[in-house]
Amino acid sequence: MILVYIEIREGKIKKSSLETLSEAKRVSEKLKYPINAVVIGYNLDDFSSELFKYGAEKVYLLENSLLKDYSSDSYSSAIVQLVKEINPEIILFPATSMGKDLAPRVAAELNVSLASDCTQIIIDNNSFKVVRPVYAGKAFAKMSFKIKPIIATLRPNIFPLVEPQENKGEVIKKELSISGVKAKVRKIVREEGAELDVTEAEIVISGGRGMQSAENFKLLRELASILPNSAIGASRSAVDAGWIGHQHQVGQTGKTVSPNLYMAFGISGAIQHLAGMSSSKCIVAVNKDPDAPIFKVATYGIVDDLFKIIPALKEELKKLYSE
Ligand SMILES: Cc1cc2nc3c(=O)[nH]c(=O)nc-3n(C[C@H](O)[C@H](O)[C@H](O)COP(=O)(O)OP(=O)(O)OC[C@H]3O[C@@H](n4cnc5c(N)ncnc54)[C@H](O)[C@@H]3O)c2cc1C
Repeated sequence: MILVYIEIREGKIKKSSLETLSEAKRVSEKLKYPINAVVIGYNLDDFSSELFKYGAEKVYLLENSLLKDYSSDSYSSAIVQLVKEINPEIILFPATSMGKDLAPRVAAELNVSLASDCTQIIIDNNSFKVVRPVYAGKAFAKMSFKIKPIIATLRPNIFPLVEPQENKGEVIKKELSISGVKAKVRKIVREEGAELDVTEAEIVISGGRGMQSAENFKLLRELASILPNSAIGASRSAVDAGWIGHQHQVGQTGKTVSPNLYMAFGISGAIQHLAGMSSSKCIVAVNKDPDAPIFKVATYGIVDDLFKIIPALKEELKKLYSE
């Protein structure tokens, strides 16, 4: 059986969880394994019908008042209890901040290995292998597993969603006993005027040192206001300069994104930045230096001053979106 962890944020299933479930469905078609999904929380809404559409056959709703807010202690304890009861062969998590926090704890508690941030699953002669980027995306490692359960986290925005289908399945609600929780969420503080997260957006518009100031990031926000489902990203230089919050940083020590469109303005394309965005489906780079390394990964490159290009682009996009 394959068990998929489903992340709920603000009462909604995160898209990356449906992508993980979709990949589980593709794997299950080859291995003939059933798919179970697990949702954790308290007073949970019934998310099952959506999960059945994406291939889950059974949905476990694990509840306890201590599971109301996420904590790696309590959530890993809940998953481990379920795993010991239902014995899945494969456990998949989305490689979101939560999945990246949770999966290693679950693997450690079960004393098994973990493959994180996988970009491909290969079923080879009925054996399960994964591909994951290593050395900041310079190379790819193919990994197989000796011990079960296999645990892997899947990079968001890489695995396509399956066509949802009307399906029925079984919902199993469990009240768990959770104890020994060492960390507790006291308060959730939202960033003021919170914008779409870069990992969730279909279009990421990023700025680097070439933007010159915090004030100039307004230009990127103007583009984002025209483009639906877009978010603002940044290089580490822009974040270190204090022009934009660290939650916008893309790269090795920031977030990994794979949007349909990644636009890089005034970003040189250092290997640590490329590690976080080179799997984007289409990359547009604007840089006045023709030798900037970003052009090696760009689908389209514009060698020019970004302060000239952004206003022209804005006008064209306005026309396009008002048609
Ligand atoms: C351990 C480690 C981890 C790191 N993690 C990350 C990470 O997660 N993310 C990350 O981004 N970096 C990371 N870095 C830093 C990385 O090495 C680079 O220093 C950083 O990405 C450079 O940012 P930049 O491209 O904005 O700046 P620069 O390299 O200074 O490039 C600025 C670019 O803007 C162009 N430019 C300037 N003015 C204009 C203009 N008017 N019009 C058009 N183009 C213009 C220039 O030609 C230049 O190419 C990490 C480094 C280390 C050592």
